[in-house]
Amino acid sequence: MREAMVRAEVGDDVYGDDPTVKELEELAARVVGKEAALFVPSGTFGNQLALFTHCLRGSEVILGDDCHIVQHEVGAASVIAGVQLRTLPGHKGEFSLSEIENKIRKEEDIHYPATGLIEIENAHSGGRVISLNWMRDVYGIGEKYRIPVHLDGARLFNAAAYLHVDVKEITRFCDSVMFCLSKGLCAPVGSLLAGRQDFIDRARKKRKLMGGGLRQAGFLAAAGILALEKMPHRLKEDHENALFLGEQLARIPGIHVKSEDIQINMVFFSIRDSGRDDLALVAQLKERGIKASSAEGGLMRFVTHYGVTKDDIRYVVDTMRHLLAGS
Ligand SMILES: *Cc1c(COP(=O)(O)O)cnc(C)c1O
Repeated sequence: MREAMVRAEVGDDVYGDDPTVKELEELAARVVGKEAALFVPSGTFGNQLALFTHCLRGSEVILGDDCHIVQHEVGAASVIAGVQLRTLPGHKGEFSLSEIENKIRKEEDIHYPATGLIEIENAHSGGRVISLNWMRDVYGIGEKYRIPVHLDGARLFNAAAYLHVDVKEITRFCDSVMFCLSKGLCAPVGSLLAGRQDFIDRARKKRKLMGGGLRQAGFLAAAGILALEKMPHRLKEDHENALFLGEQLARIPGIHVKSEDIQINMVFFSIRDSGRDDLALVAQLKERGIKASSAEGGLMRFVTHYGVTKDDIRYVVDTMRHLLAGS
């Protein structure tokens, strides 16, 4: 990737004349089956740009209360798009279809905000892949009331690998999609927002407003092209490694693994029964070269990726066994 970056042919993408960015955007649009795509600096940027482009200020977005936009984007929806988030109780990424339909503002009333968007996430940041049937039903509701559906597909390719489908089988049930080139696909920087041509044209101008118009971005896009071409097919290795890690961790006394939620490359677990403090454990792991997320809602997280081998996992498991047994 670094070699590809060094060799990249670049221009000024703010003026639309960076050939490598263009190539990446065309490739991305083709891969997800949309008319056009736009390179953005991060997943958060792409999601927020989608809200900003789809929605009028003061309109409502219907989404699950456990989704990334609600949990991990610093409340940006209220700052940038100026929308109201109408959350529904999320169950591992899915939420009630009848509640979506109930929450849609159907008649014009002087008191009501308009419903601007429905937002869903696949794979969900809790590690689960949501079903295509549920997505089809959500999309159907959107069509019925002419409400667009945005898919947060930061880990879209992990979802496709789990479901054994082409990504287009997932993205056909949304009007716009954001996916990350970083994370599992291993590019250093960048995400894409894809959708209809007129939507992307409007998003391009708003990306500039948000400070996301990048000049010689082809250096980044070159890594992104490799990420998109070479990395999706190997994600199943990460998933197998996550399952292996989950199985091994589950054997250690004091650890409870959310085994049923290991569908992609993330392993969530609790060490509450061990009586140990998660922050202390994270620090001890770090000293031994292992990075883990501290507990959120009682759950710690390990993530497998291209840089993590089976041997690395054995080392992690041995270290965890040792740390939790002794003190
Ligand atoms: C990581 C992630 C994002 C945000 O991506 P960043 O590049 O970290 O801003 C958005 N949605 C989901 C589901 C994610 O996992």
